[in-house]
Amino acid sequence: MPSTDETFRQELRSWLAEHAPPAIAVATTAEEAEVLREWQRILHAGGWVGIHWPVEYGGRGASATQVAIYNEELARANAPEIPGRGGLTLVGPTLMAYGTEGQRWRWMPRILTGDDVWCQLFSEPGAGSDLTGLTTRAEKRGDLFVVTGQKVWSTYAQFADWGIALVRTDPRVAKSKGISMVAVPMHAKGVDVRPLRQMTGESEFNEVFLDEVEVPADNLIGPENEGWRVARTTLANERGGGFIWKQQVRQQEAFELLWRTCAGAGLLQDPVVRQRLARSRIDVEIFRLHNARTLARLARGEDLGAESSLVKLFWAGASQRLYETACHVLGPAALLGAGEWANGLLATRANSIMGGTSEIQRNIIGERLLGLPR
Ligand SMILES: Cc1cc2nc3c(=O)[nH]c(=O)nc-3n(C[C@H](O)[C@H](O)[C@H](O)COP(=O)(O)OP(=O)(O)OC[C@H]3O[C@@H](n4cnc5c(N)ncnc54)[C@H](O)[C@@H]3O)c2cc1C
Repeated sequence: MPSTDETFRQELRSWLAEHAPPAIAVATTAEEAEVLREWQRILHAGGWVGIHWPVEYGGRGASATQVAIYNEELARANAPEIPGRGGLTLVGPTLMAYGTEGQRWRWMPRILTGDDVWCQLFSEPGAGSDLTGLTTRAEKRGDLFVVTGQKVWSTYAQFADWGIALVRTDPRVAKSKGISMVAVPMHAKGVDVRPLRQMTGESEFNEVFLDEVEVPADNLIGPENEGWRVARTTLANERGGGFIWKQQVRQQEAFELLWRTCAGAGLLQDPVVRQRLARSRIDVEIFRLHNARTLARLARGEDLGAESSLVKLFWAGASQRLYETACHVLGPAALLGAGEWANGLLATRANSIMGGTSEIQRNIIGERLLGLPR
């Protein structure tokens, strides 16, 4: 008899065979964003959104293994990221930990259906790795917070209905004190979203200018002036929800394609090409083993803690090396076809910045895993 996990995989695989995902990698227009929202609605109707959420909040209460399988199967089917990703991985878990009952029932069902898309308004021009230096301020006026400042790198903000924002509510105290988390309505007066064009040509993230934006005091998430504590929960979930399982499939597939392309071009006889391909194959395998260890720990209910920095650091480097290898061994041919190798070379630059830079991961590994001095 197949195991429960295998039955789960087969159920999802059959469902995906009947419901083909749209062929859009990243939405860059409002029309594409709408197609992806529709895809999320279809997934939701099939019971395939927020599977890691508890059943009482509309999820499936899926196990760590099932979350891994879910993401592997979606990646194999070439399914795009759903617009609700930020809400599912960041906002939902934060609301479960710190939201009021009213906030949970108001926002969480609409995150699942894709009716509300959320973006993350944390980083600022002067506050990224050290977010506690943020200067966007929120002034209490009656039952409102009036928010003024600037955020940057806000993924999907141009299509978002809500932003989960860190703001300074008490400017008299320094750094991590005096910060609060609020839900900013992205269609409110005073919100100006300006897409940033990346070197790939796509506009995935944005600058967000906030000018006297009125946010109801009810939108405060967690205690006032304790937003830094709340944000730690949000950040701990940033790469949750299956990020690495998808990346594992993508790394593996990209390597196999590179191998076939090199074989087709008669390059496998070249010892330098073989050497570089071998390095990439080893990267793919090490990444798989890192992920297997992560899954074993999650399945035992253990907290990953600083170990997740090892995986993030390794993945960022390995993904960049793979596309560097492809462009090196294929030469000008890397620009042919859909240009995916050249595009990947540019796109993977972001991997060592997003979700904490590689330098910051090294600091965490040095201090918390190796016990080195600060
Ligand atoms: C694709 C992508 C999507 C993103 N999406 C979002 C989003 O949706 N919402 C959001 O709020 N943010 C988002 N970000 C922002 C991201 O979190 C920040 O870019 C990241 O935290 C780094 O901050 P920074 O860009 O301000 O760089 P800085 O913090 O200014 O760092 C500059 C350089 O200094 C190094 N450095 C900084 N501090 C140290 C230190 N203590 N020790 C050693 N080196 C250090 C860094 O490693 C880096 O090389 C996104 C970024 C990317 C690339």
